Amino acid sequence: MGAMSTAAAHGVVIGTMTDEKINSNLPNAKAEAAPRNLTGDRDAGQTPLLPALACLKTAYSHILGYSVAGEETVIQAPELNVVFDIGKCPRPVLTSDFCLLTHGHMDHAAGLPYYLSQRFFQGMCPGTVICPRPIADAVAAMIDAFGRLEGKAIAHRLIPLSSGEEFELRKGLVVRAFPTFHTVESLGYTLIDRREKLKPELAAQQLPGHVLRDMKARGEKITYTLDIPIMAYTGDTAMAETLAHPDVREARVLLTECTFFEASHRRRASVGRHLHLNDFLQALPSLQNELVVITHVSRRTYVPWARRTLERAAAGMAFTPKIEFLMEHTQKLQVVAGSAAAFNPAPLPEPAEINEAEA
Ligand SMILES: [Zn+2]
Ligand SMILES: [Zn+2]
Repeated sequence: MGAMSTAAAHGVVIGTMTDEKINSNLPNAKAEAAPRNLTGDRDAGQTPLLPALACLKTAYSHILGYSVAGEETVIQAPELNVVFDIGKCPRPVLTSDFCLLTHGHMDHAAGLPYYLSQRFFQGMCPGTVICPRPIADAVAAMIDAFGRLEGKAIAHRLIPLSSGEEFELRKGLVVRAFPTFHTVESLGYTLIDRREKLKPELAAQQLPGHVLRDMKARGEKITYTLDIPIMAYTGDTAMAETLAHPDVREARVLLTECTFFEASHRRRASVGRHLHLNDFLQALPSLQNELVVITHVSRRTYVPWARRTLERAAAGMAFTPKIEFLMEHTQKLQVVAGSAAAFNPAPLPEPAEINEAEA
């Protein structure tokens, strides 16, 4: 006797139901209202399963990103061609040629090999990764391991930096690393607008152009270098001297972590080497930024409550910056089943005065 079918072996008889009978047992799809989107009647921007990117406009660049402690942190400045940390590499950040990685924690670094590989797949130039010098070997080994898994080397450029070192991203735009203090090797980064300006004593004389050109031809130094720190990003850090560093204090826009706000979370902050609201409040009076953007707030903390708590605590203090919470600027992503997610950031700003060429 041949082998019995599995169904028959289990005493199940197959094939007695007609299509009509089956269909009569199924709910009538047409009779039920189709959900508006994947989240049914809920707003897509409110479900943690479809994290929407935040978008915030500054005078120097948009700030586009997502940052929740332990979950994912990725913050892009599209007009400055950089992405600070890479999180899980949301699609828009592929367009930045430079990834400035602050440290190797998974929620900040996991998307790195995908970013590099996907840029190749999309026909873009190889991505450049800037990272703390002590983790460069591990980052290179990770990219190499993914290359072996993919069966071909992943094109990229890796630039290790130490605190105080610089790298020119493009003419007139430099990144400089500053020290941060986390549970693993880490660095923060400041983007610096660098211009050559005519020396004030020469400008005061209103010398004609040909005289200045002759002086230059004779090898005389007629200009001085003016550095303007445009944007600083701390990554993850404990208090120490990070927020007192001039590149951080004086940056026009400061992107800083502030993970914990509840009084009972003081210990969590010190164990994880993160900033607590109390640390931030201590530093606040010395900050000279135009805008401070708070990132990396714990999932345990309700962000509007954190903002109100900060506002109450800072009331009456003398300080300059306007303060925003990144995740209060999330976009409303409408995801309709069967179609691609539409992402429509605000239109690009007029070129800021800061980027205009000067002598
Ligand atoms: Zn983190
Ligand atoms: Zn971390």
